[in-house]
Amino acid sequence: MSNQRSGLVAEEKQALLAAIVSSSQDAIVSKTLKGVITSWNPAAERLFGYKEREVLGKHISLIIPEDRIHEEDFILEQIGRGQRIEHFETVRKAKNGTLIPISLTISPVFNERKEIIGASKIARDISEMIASKLEKERLYEEVNVLSRKKDEFIALAAHELKTPITSLRGFMEVLQLHATADSLQAGLLERCVRQTNKLTTLLNDLLDVSRLQIGKLLLRCEKFDLVAMVQEVLSGFTHSARHRFIFKNKKPVVIYADRIRLEQVLTNLLNNAVKYTPAGGTVTIKMREAAGKVYVSVRDEGLGIEPEHLTKIFNQFYRAVDPGANISGLGIGLYISKEIITRHGGTIGVKSRKGSGSVFVFSIPKQYQQ
Ligand code: ADP
Repeated sequence: MSNQRSGLVAEEKQALLAAIVSSSQDAIVSKTLKGVITSWNPAAERLFGYKEREVLGKHISLIIPEDRIHEEDFILEQIGRGQRIEHFETVRKAKNGTLIPISLTISPVFNERKEIIGASKIARDISEMIASKLEKERLYEEVNVLSRKKDEFIALAAHELKTPITSLRGFMEVLQLHATADSLQAGLLERCVRQTNKLTTLLNDLLDVSRLQIGKLLLRCEKFDLVAMVQEVLSGFTHSARHRFIFKNKKPVVIYADRIRLEQVLTNLLNNAVKYTPAGGTVTIKMREAAGKVYVSVRDEGLGIEPEHLTKIFNQFYRAVDPGANISGLGIGLYISKEIITRHGGTIGVKSRKGSGSVFVFSIPKQYQQ
């Protein structure tokens, strides 16, 4: 194919190349193998402050800070061996003495006989990139400090609030001893005890969140029957006439795990099932074993969850409830549950459709391995 037919002739190519170099936003400089500058484009003029005529024939060390002169030896040595240097982050000195952080890409230049006769380098000003990286690091550190402060505050506040609540609980128990059965006082005291228990659970959850942050939530494993544990937890719910509970498993399923923490997970799933299911709905718990694992599911007939929230509801403080729905909660129960299950080497997940109820399933190995 002739040059005409294949595209540009050599002269046109040369002109095009010159136009590209001249209009480039990056500084493009070429030099001999001895470091003598042989070309200097307008972007180099803007970046380093020297006009082309001031630098042609001068040594490249003109723009290299004294403490970086050794870099040039390394660069020329690499180029002499025909190797390219990519994205080499360094600093160069402008005419007015300003130090400019740049990213250099340097390639050897060959003559027609394929001999290396020099180097061409593209220098990109990365001051803005470095400034924004530093700013991001500063913001990240600031957010971390604030987040640690928030965790410390939550832990402290929860701890301080627990003390008076424990006293209240004690006083109520004494009053309960003196209240005659079936009296108005007995009924009211019972409700007070239930509310203080709720408060204690909330505070314990908040304490757990801060324990999780600092990796202090430890598992205390023991051997126990999971079926008996589910029945026991359920007995705390079945007094509610608002929902029906179904759990048919009878045969013991003995596991080695942290009983108290698993009770906490199940209680949380049942509390949610009840909280997000209108009165009259059924909550079904199922358990099955497979491949050394035990699977527990809690199905409800409640509000269900929109698909976009499904992966996020296990995040800390995430709530998927409509603010107008007036359903209380802190958005930490599922986060803690997930952490507990993960620490057991298990998994937890949910399937749900808006308006059609939800099913939460967790699985853990029957034998927790430390
Ligand atoms: P909380 O219930 O205190 O908001 P959780 O961490 O237990 O916090 O749950 C996170 C969110 O997941 C809830 O705010 C709710 O939007 C959604 N959710 C959890 N369980 C159910 C459920 N059974 N049915 C519908 N939504 C649920």
